[in-house]
Amino acid sequence: MTDPPVTPVAFTEQDYAARMDRAARDAAATGLTGLLIAPGPDLLRLCGYRPATPTERLTLLVLAAGSEPRLLVPASERPDAEAAPGAGALRISAWGHGQDPYAAAAGLLRPHGRYGISDSTWAPHLLGLQEALPSATYRPLTTALPMLRAIKDEHEVARLAAAGAAADAVYEEILSVRFTGRRETELAADLAHLLRRHGHSQVDFTVVGSGPNGANPRHRAAERTIAVGDMVVLDFAGLKDGYGADTTRTVHVGAPTDEERQVHEIVRAAQQAAFEAVRPDVPCEEIDRVARGVIEDAGYGEYVVHRTGHGIGVTTREPPYLVEGERQPLAPGMCFSIEPGVYLPGRFGVRIEDVVTCTETGGRRLNTTPHEMAIVT
Ligand code: ZN
Ligand code: ZN
Ligand code: ZN
Repeated sequence: MTDPPVTPVAFTEQDYAARMDRAARDAAATGLTGLLIAPGPDLLRLCGYRPATPTERLTLLVLAAGSEPRLLVPASERPDAEAAPGAGALRISAWGHGQDPYAAAAGLLRPHGRYGISDSTWAPHLLGLQEALPSATYRPLTTALPMLRAIKDEHEVARLAAAGAAADAVYEEILSVRFTGRRETELAADLAHLLRRHGHSQVDFTVVGSGPNGANPRHRAAERTIAVGDMVVLDFAGLKDGYGADTTRTVHVGAPTDEERQVHEIVRAAQQAAFEAVRPDVPCEEIDRVARGVIEDAGYGEYVVHRTGHGIGVTTREPPYLVEGERQPLAPGMCFSIEPGVYLPGRFGVRIEDVVTCTETGGRRLNTTPHEMAIVT
């Protein structure tokens, strides 16, 4: 059965204007003159524009507080840029045949400006800008403004919720699929197929970690044949209508042992405690500490081998990271995974992951399937 296609609420010109305005103000607050955004996830989110094909021809969005957003494009791509949903919120200019695109870009910049530049900018473009405007300085957005995309507006949260609901439907369906005697790669293909059937246009990964393979948090899927008695970590992520889902449940084939039940329960309790700690102004690292604390208190601290979570939006992995040392406070509109796990080398692993959004009053889960250990056949 295929779900009826549900068209998401379209982002408006006002949505894009608000995102660009916030980005320019955030840049100014960190001491930057402005932001230079090349094609990629930042450009798409800020103004809704994605060139049909990435090329070596310069496309650049220039944002600066107090100035009108400017988008510089090759002349032949101007009609495409003008058709972007956020085009009405910015001024488009084009560079033509025989013209130096970097000279055209320099005309939009301050000669001694300090600019944050998007990570997806191709090296020739940055080198061209440096040559055209040698007194300006450039910093990568990863370090200059890591939280650029961290706070989502309500329409973005709605898309993340829809992507999460589709992933939840995939999980509910995979529970009735046969596990015993099938390879991890076959189950992984089932998950990918189900994600697409439930509306995901891009599948980022489908992890199936059975038995000892589940004890490696970087495992994807291998040729191992799943057998009765296996714990199986199922972790899958993709994009639906441009926004991500990423969820993990750990199931068991047949009846689990007491120890398997106990470890699963510890991870469930850690996930729940971390979720309950979510509220505005709590530092990201505190969510990580809460999850770890539950697992350490239960005596499994040495088997926690990765951070507790990561942000999600137009990509399935982005800031903020829920990890020791990240003092960034949570804020309403931030969306991130909470995915504690316990990994017992050579034996099995357990991970439980939901995407959560921070609201004014606390956390709200965007994955809602049960956390109890499901038994599969
Ligand atoms: Zn078992
Ligand atoms: Zn995941
Ligand atoms: Zn994740």
